[in-house]
Amino acid sequence: MAKKILVVEDEKNIARFIELELTHEQFDVTIAYDGRAGLDLAMTESFDVLLLDVMLPDLNGIEVCRRVRKTSDIPILLLTARDTVTDRVAGLDAGADDYIVKPFAIEELLARIRAVLRRTSAEEKNLTSFKEIAVDEAAFQAYVEEEPLQLTKTEFDLLLLLVKNQNLVCTREQILTAVWGYDSEVETNVIDVYIRHLRAKLPDHLSHYIETVRGVGYVMRS
Ligand code: CA
Repeated sequence: MAKKILVVEDEKNIARFIELELTHEQFDVTIAYDGRAGLDLAMTESFDVLLLDVMLPDLNGIEVCRRVRKTSDIPILLLTARDTVTDRVAGLDAGADDYIVKPFAIEELLARIRAVLRRTSAEEKNLTSFKEIAVDEAAFQAYVEEEPLQLTKTEFDLLLLLVKNQNLVCTREQILTAVWGYDSEVETNVIDVYIRHLRAKLPDHLSHYIETVRGVGYVMRS
């Protein structure tokens, strides 16, 4: 079923452009031209993504975001003309998932939309995800863009640990304990071997997110 996107944008030509592009990508698009109308729609109908301009008549995008977020966990992407830190912080504080600075390339907008949709579909399925990687702990299966990865049990455990702790450094001790168990007799250089296997099984653009932290361990850093 087509994903439903609510676009709240007062500049009619931009709204029209976004509508055409998203419709072309098979999304079901609804447009609102001011903050009040956008808020009403977001509160009364169900959408998969909310695309929200910041500078809007009646009610600005940050305020719409704040109010929607009180009752809904719909992914919210802000469109902002001003790439200022204050705007970004205000938007993220108000509960936005991401923001995109105008003028933007349509490919970038589509990529951001796909990313938030991937995140929510992963949460629905109780998957742990990192970029295009999704790990289903219960099923012992990892995926890259929905394609199953062929991993051994050890490689799977290692990937799960790194994805669960994304952006946090996992020390060698933590990795040994989590993957091989407390009383394991394995040498820590075994970790390096398995990291190498894991990197080799991931596509290049994803494998480089597994960073070596010299003398400490590894981190999956976005
Ligand atoms: Ca505007």
